[in-house]
Amino acid sequence: MKDISRILVIDDEESMRDSCNQVLSKDGHRVDTAENGMVGLEKIKTFKPDLVLVDLKMPGISGMEVLEKVNVIDPTIVAVVITGYANLESAIHAFKRGAYDFLPKPFTPDELRIIIKRGLERRKLILKSIALEQEKESMRKFFITMVSHQLCSPLATVQQNLEIILDGIVGDVPEKQEKLLRRARESISSLLTLIKDWLDLSKIETGKLVETFESLSLVPLLQETIESLRPLAQERNITLTLHRDDGDIPMINGDLQSLQQLFTNLISNAIKFNHQGGQVNITLQERDSYLEIKISDTGIGIAENDLPFIFDEFHRVRGDETQTVPGTGLGLSIARKIAEAHSASITVESRVGEGSMFTVHFPRD
Ligand code: ADP
Repeated sequence: MKDISRILVIDDEESMRDSCNQVLSKDGHRVDTAENGMVGLEKIKTFKPDLVLVDLKMPGISGMEVLEKVNVIDPTIVAVVITGYANLESAIHAFKRGAYDFLPKPFTPDELRIIIKRGLERRKLILKSIALEQEKESMRKFFITMVSHQLCSPLATVQQNLEIILDGIVGDVPEKQEKLLRRARESISSLLTLIKDWLDLSKIETGKLVETFESLSLVPLLQETIESLRPLAQERNITLTLHRDDGDIPMINGDLQSLQQLFTNLISNAIKFNHQGGQVNITLQERDSYLEIKISDTGIGIAENDLPFIFDEFHRVRGDETQTVPGTGLGLSIARKIAEAHSASITVESRVGEGSMFTVHFPRD
């Protein structure tokens, strides 16, 4: 079946409207006409054309203004300008205002047909790419929902059941079986962390993770994050200390939950990649136009060759000291994306065997 395209002709010359109407209707298009820009813009809203033919020189609203407004009403409509004074300058003006093509008067029916055909092909391409974009977006949403429900829920149930068995609630567990069950629990737990991190990354990419911006203070946020990680540090005898300037620290504009996640990722790395009995120092300082947070550790450090890649998705440094540390390689890329959503930056300095220092700069509120 042949597609019927809708074409609106906006021209103050009646003979021009009629001849365009005749040629285009005969070719099977649905055509409407308007005698001036005002009527034309009204008709665009109801007639919903695929393409508009606009005369540049009209009394009242000029063709240029019509072009600008068409673009605002629906930027997917293809606009072709017709004019009696074809010159390079007016063509450039028209293209700048969103026109796709140019038809100098007088023109033959065939010249009109060629330009209209090209314009309608362009319109089809625009609609197709929008449809593809929408399809991609809905597939992405479907995938995120599928992963969160169909994958996470059964895994969480398996994890809970393993907890119940290992806690001895349903009877004693022989030593050999306990060892295997513990290993199964660890694997499920890393799988769940991987899925959670991946979901967070997808949410950041679709703008869902960093949503509610408010004026907030980094002091309690850092204190709470540090307290939540203290048990992890104590397991390895690592001291966690917050140093801050005396006096008021200015507020910043941010999303509380995602910022907690950013600092959790950086501080937990400083603990995970540290030595038994090491130190993690978190410093919060006010600078001229920004707030500076430094997270420094006395851990294993990162080799110069690896530094450019550690913020990449799934990148983990390979080595004897890192292979037993659990992780997904997504923590730093999530942290950097959250920082970017706050117009903040994260940089790193490190020396193997001495430790690392991650610096976050926040613009002040
Ligand atoms: P994960 O911690 O899950 O492995 P990240 O994206 O948080 O993933 O970090 C990527 C890699 O960067 C880590 O695997 C580790 O090799 C290195 N890294 C990150 N933070 C530190 C740190 N404070 N000290 C040493 N290495 C680090």
